[in-house]
Amino acid sequence: VTAPNVGQLTSEWTGAKHTFEVQVWPDRASMLEHLDVVFPDGGWFEVNEAGERPAGAFVNAAGFMSNEAPEALGTIYLNEEWLDIEIIVHEVAHAAMFVYGCDLLGVYSRAMVHISSTNETFAYLIGDLVAQLGTWLYDAGMYR
Ligand SMILES: [Zn+2]
Repeated sequence: VTAPNVGQLTSEWTGAKHTFEVQVWPDRASMLEHLDVVFPDGGWFEVNEAGERPAGAFVNAAGFMSNEAPEALGTIYLNEEWLDIEIIVHEVAHAAMFVYGCDLLGVYSRAMVHISSTNETFAYLIGDLVAQLGTWLYDAGMYR
């Protein structure tokens, strides 16, 4: 049976302590099969905005008012087959936006829609920029 490496991220930058589980599966197929079981409505086998099946995912915790968010706020899914800085940053951006939305914006904020509905654009944007910056720093020998 295929199993992921499991880790955990913790942050208190919003003033409240929150954790995220991180699961790194050996390949994309096993990650998507697992996601289809734990979150069947995710459309995991459809192509995303990048024209690809998902190479990573963030599934947030649910079932609470955002200003009463629990400590554990979700799971980041990655796989060793598709593991690069752009994908890592993209999924972490989703997780960070979720914490931000819960702790700083709250349930009634009109800004919440910009955090949740257009979240994908922000995640792609920061992933793209960090990947370009990382490539330049690495190629120029500044990042070792
Ligand atoms: Zn995304």
